[in-house]
Amino acid sequence: MSFVFPPPVPVSVPITGRPELFPVHRIYCVGRNYEEHAKEMGFTGREPPFFFMKPADAVVVVPAGATATIDYPRLTKNLHHEIELVIAIGKPGRNIAAADALGHVFGYAVGLDMTRRDLQNDMKKQGRPWCIGKAFDQSAPIGPITAAALAGDIGHAEIHLQVNGQDRQRSNVSKLIWNVSETIEHLSAAWDLQAGDLIYSGTPEGVAAVVAGDTMAGGVSGLESIRVQVR
Ligand code: MN
Repeated sequence: MSFVFPPPVPVSVPITGRPELFPVHRIYCVGRNYEEHAKEMGFTGREPPFFFMKPADAVVVVPAGATATIDYPRLTKNLHHEIELVIAIGKPGRNIAAADALGHVFGYAVGLDMTRRDLQNDMKKQGRPWCIGKAFDQSAPIGPITAAALAGDIGHAEIHLQVNGQDRQRSNVSKLIWNVSETIEHLSAAWDLQAGDLIYSGTPEGVAAVVAGDTMAGGVSGLESIRVQVR
């Protein structure tokens, strides 16, 4: 087999305490999965979960203890941070029941669903797809993956984000509208999940803008924290 040009190197994420890398297949994201964030976006009540995707090569790996950099993206004047718990799928499946869902989880990581909010809002108003607001280059920073067995009680972990040392987002994974198992149940009803899929599970309230020069520091208790500077 030969290719007309060299195929891209697979996107991968480091795993805490292991030499092997986690190869990324797809990136799924859950919209409005914390009640207080749904409210700040102008919605109320529990609605069925909905999903959008980012390309795998939107990943920016943040190595343990390091500060990664992302470029301020083109076209936007309102780049928002969304700190999220990321679920890493290790075993394929479709129509997975919530009761079986954790058996498909390889581990968890801290991620940022960076959003060109002005472009996303324009698309919403026009009833058009969100891709230009969500699925751009470098829009999915992620820290090392921690194996599920080593991640502690992830369902009750604190989740937080500081920008330049100031608190912006602080909540608890227990406040997810659709928890990890329910999210996997819904997602796998619509798509065949594969080993290597990442699920950005949604962000709590407090989303706001960052500008060039800002440094974001995010964490979920039990997982490796991340630091990302915008340049
Ligand atoms: Mn999000």
